[in-house]
Amino acid sequence: MAQSHSDANRIFIAGAGIGGLTAALCLSRRSRAVTVIEQASELRPVGSGLQLPPNTMQVLRDLGLEDALLPHVAAPRAIEVMTWRSDTPVAEIPLGKIAEERYGAPYLVIHRADLQGVLLKAARASAGITLRLGTRLRAAAQSADAIKLELEHAAEDTDPDTPLDHDTGAALIGADGVWSTVRRRIMGLRAAAFSGRTAYRAVIPASEVPERWRNVTGLWLGPRAHVVHYPVAGGERFNLVALVEEDWQEEAWSGPADRSALLDRFRDWPGSCRELLSLPSSWLKWALCSMDPGTSWVDGRFALLGDAAHAMLPFAAQGAAMAIEDAEALARHLDQGASDVPRALRAYEAERQDRAERVMRLARSNDRIYHMSGPLALARDLVMRSLPSERLLARLDWLYGWRPPGA
Ligand SMILES: Cc1cc2nc3c(=O)[nH]c(=O)nc-3n(C[C@H](O)[C@H](O)[C@H](O)COP(=O)(O)OP(=O)(O)OC[C@H]3O[C@@H](n4cnc5c(N)ncnc54)[C@H](O)[C@@H]3O)c2cc1C
Repeated sequence: MAQSHSDANRIFIAGAGIGGLTAALCLSRRSRAVTVIEQASELRPVGSGLQLPPNTMQVLRDLGLEDALLPHVAAPRAIEVMTWRSDTPVAEIPLGKIAEERYGAPYLVIHRADLQGVLLKAARASAGITLRLGTRLRAAAQSADAIKLELEHAAEDTDPDTPLDHDTGAALIGADGVWSTVRRRIMGLRAAAFSGRTAYRAVIPASEVPERWRNVTGLWLGPRAHVVHYPVAGGERFNLVALVEEDWQEEAWSGPADRSALLDRFRDWPGSCRELLSLPSSWLKWALCSMDPGTSWVDGRFALLGDAAHAMLPFAAQGAAMAIEDAEALARHLDQGASDVPRALRAYEAERQDRAERVMRLARSNDRIYHMSGPLALARDLVMRSLPSERLLARLDWLYGWRPPGA
């Protein structure tokens, strides 16, 4: 039977990912009725690690989620930066207590599925949030004072003749990720494009990993590739990601990876890096797709959030963080400007766009710096060695020091 939760003030969010669920919780906290539409019929524990830098923690704290997150997170002592030539760090960026004192919140790492699980549980417990899993947003239209949605059942065995659901409300928020339907089909904006980079991901028991790496974020830089690793799941598991410049030949944008080809790609790297990469018995690979800055995220009563607005390379480790920041700002503007939704959405975009695009540019610049070779790489390493470690952290104060206004 078709479900409908139409009411004139209801906010519809497409996507129950990190951004969509956080936005629903922030809106519900401000007493707005929200419906979240998610195409997956079940939110399975897919994906691997995500970084939760200090700039996200105030939002999650304000939602009362810190205690629920604690069993799942790890707090690395530092980021150790090595290169493909040696496992002796060229730099160490302090995190732990130093970052917490500097920014008023810790720098944490977590498995994406654990973060999504905590957000989902909180959303299920919120009376103001209606969750519609297994439902795909197909189309939407807007008039001066309302939006109208066409929704379909997303299960593969659904009879194609099943009638569509229709819903109406005050605004549609596209939090539907890098391949956003709201962005492409509803707002007619340019889609994300393959960046020429692939992420190979694996998560293994931390007990298999040498002690030296269990309490830090490791970052290995090399020509046309880099490697990142850190603990997740309260330190019980270990997340490994190898990021490589290469073409993408498959049809799907993610899938199983060829382990031996991956190990061969890193055959000239230091033994301790190769040892880590050899630990997982299987890897998954993801084509990394990103967008160019400069497109609008808002059209009347439609707005984008998270990857749908600004999908970026994960080289600043801020994809989830930007979605969480967006969610807080969106809810605040919709609350303050409830009587004029299009205006509130424009104010949201005006507050968020410069910052998100600055982070997109940082990710691109890290891409160049991390993957340097020859004399440029030697110069990079020299500069990194010469800078005091707290200064390396201070360069990111503008990023990690963000707080929601009034916090
Ligand atoms: C399955 C999955 C695994 C991931 N794993 C990792 C990882 O290991 N490491 C990492 O750094 N990043 C990962 N990411 C990306 C990361 O979650 C995002 O970069 C970041 O959290 C910003 O999230 P978002 O909420 O904008 O989008 P996402 O987290 O991508 O969520 C978008 C949601 O929208 C839903 N959706 C899409 N189209 C529709 C539609 N038409 N109707 C209804 N629902 C729709 C999707 O099913 C998805 O649940 C993953 C994303 C996904 C979807």
